[in-house]
Amino acid sequence: MSEAKAAPAWQVTVLTLFPEMFPGYLAHSLAGKALDAGLWALETVDIRDFASDKHRSVDDAPFGGGPGMVLMPEVVDRAIRARHRGPAPVVYLTPRGRPLDQAMVRGYAARPSLTLLCGRFEGVDERVLEAQGVEEVSLGDFVLSGGEPAALALIDAVVRLLPGVVGAEETLEEESFERGLLEYPHYTRPAEWQGRKVPEVLISGHHEKVKAWRLRQAEAATKARRPDLWQRYLAARNRSEEGNEP
Ligand code: SAH
Repeated sequence: MSEAKAAPAWQVTVLTLFPEMFPGYLAHSLAGKALDAGLWALETVDIRDFASDKHRSVDDAPFGGGPGMVLMPEVVDRAIRARHRGPAPVVYLTPRGRPLDQAMVRGYAARPSLTLLCGRFEGVDERVLEAQGVEEVSLGDFVLSGGEPAALALIDAVVRLLPGVVGAEETLEEESFERGLLEYPHYTRPAEWQGRKVPEVLISGHHEKVKAWRLRQAEAATKARRPDLWQRYLAARNRSEEGNEP
């Protein structure tokens, strides 16, 4: 008798012109083990399969002129209709989208499934994004040649939050952005390397002092490197202090 495999905790569907790029590096290491174990599942959909002419065309020149080609609305619409399972939205990876952050990643991890649309060329016809209520998400303020690396990065960030994928849950809680701060610096053996010593407190064995030192380091790094995060952290801290008053 064969044992029925439990449904995966998280299912991602990727619409792309390059399905062979998946799972890519996610076949390795922790994400790969979790994929083999069925903790998450991946389906790739070749957008070209939804072309309707004999040349299997997916793109055409932009109205209004200009360089490059645009993915046609009908082809993308057919691919979405055929393979997208709600209620989670379709997410289109694009530099015009909302910049991805850890709070958004947590949101995607909390839902059972997600559909990602990878663009190519100049992008996707705007009307299909409107018609399908597509959510637009950017990996950052730079331009890639396709949405695939952005989709892989998003999936990576979600998968490592799924239960059972990363060993110790507390490693996740202290990580960059989880508390609205960048993480503190790390050190391992040897205690002295090329004349540089590990901060004394870390070898003191005094857990409370280590914790306090790490928080101070995390705050200092955030203040110096990411004034935007620092302002938000201060505002949240002030709010919670006010909230604690009788
Ligand atoms: N003409 C577009 C860029 C097209 S790049 C513009 O100026 O906004 C081709 C494809 O790469 C896009 O359709 C998108 O899917 C993907 N891509 C490029 N940069 C990205 C980024 N920063 N984040 C997410 N996807 C991106």
